[in-house]
Amino acid sequence: MNVYEDISIDSHERVVYCENIDVGLKAFIAVHNTQRGPSLGGCRMWDYDTEEDALRDVLRLSRGMTFKNALADLDIGGGKSVIWGNSKTQKTPLLLRAMGEFVQYMNGRYIIAEDVGMTVKDILVIREITKFTPDPTAGDPGPTTAKGVYIGIKEACKFLYGTDVLSGIQVAVQGAGSVGLALIKHLRKEGAEVYVADISQRNLHKAIALGSIPASVDSIHSVDCNVFAPCALGAIINDTTIPQLNCDIVAGSANNQLLESSHGADLLKAGILYAPDYVINAGGVIMIAGETSDGFDHSIVDRKVNNIGSTLAGIFEASRKTGTPTNIIAREMANKMLQS
Ligand code: NAD
Repeated sequence: MNVYEDISIDSHERVVYCENIDVGLKAFIAVHNTQRGPSLGGCRMWDYDTEEDALRDVLRLSRGMTFKNALADLDIGGGKSVIWGNSKTQKTPLLLRAMGEFVQYMNGRYIIAEDVGMTVKDILVIREITKFTPDPTAGDPGPTTAKGVYIGIKEACKFLYGTDVLSGIQVAVQGAGSVGLALIKHLRKEGAEVYVADISQRNLHKAIALGSIPASVDSIHSVDCNVFAPCALGAIINDTTIPQLNCDIVAGSANNQLLESSHGADLLKAGILYAPDYVINAGGVIMIAGETSDGFDHSIVDRKVNNIGSTLAGIFEASRKTGTPTNIIAREMANKMLQS
């Protein structure tokens, strides 16, 4: 560990810039809030254009984790880390171990897990250095996240159409990775018609093998369908895409789907029901939090993942009654949880 620097940022408890030149590591660890317990959140490895982009991402993501963990009723706070680099070409065991040293330096205020560009195997390497990781041997959280998204899509359909039967419902899935593919399996099993786009031909073909219909990466968000499910990266809901949406519901796993919070109001105005991202995609962190407690209890994890449906139902209902966008209602509910 060669250099570290604490960055003072309002609303975050602590943000650390991590650099180890010898192994090519540049990273940020952001602890947003530890009121409910140590902060827990994945580590994303991404080839950001600039250091500012990496910082912006980690701040948004860590803030989202605070609200997500509170609304899922987990005794953990919100944090996140990002490694600035290409996960395909720059990720080495040395770099991962160096990241482990920085996590150890945080002395338990941040617990690191996997996110985009990082795998369960990578966390096992980091675990050689620090105990501040959940035990990742329970496996990939993606399928549990997908289960929560599937439950959330059913809840949204029930709210809007009066039935949660998905047979014949059309869903456009952006991104067929760990979550997207598992979601498509649930949807196809129930007879939903699935459109899919992915920049990875390999993942696209896996989705097609499940009976999905391929769509263009550039226009998947504008496919005429019931549900648009963003399962790639964030900020897909923005000034450009909102007028192009052709769906009744936006419900997917991607973090930070709204470029700006005000885009929640724009969706409401456009008559589109939005399932707030950090509510519907909490399945993975619920599973990971289960791994950190004494003895992994599948029944508690299942119960909390199933609760995603009732939490969303409450948010949809409150939005209908008050005319307030669902993302604002979710934020208010999370703030209440943080104060309790
Ligand atoms: P992943 O890396 O396994 O899959 C992402 C997929 O999206 C990849 O197949 C990738 O090729 C594709 N993709 C990237 N850019 C795209 C684009 N512009 N158009 C179409 N496809 C594109 O990641 P994942 O674990 O499936 O997570 C997906 C999203 O859900 C991420 O935003 C992640 O932060 C969020 N999320 C994941 C979990 C989890 O448990 N894995 C939990 C909560 C939130």
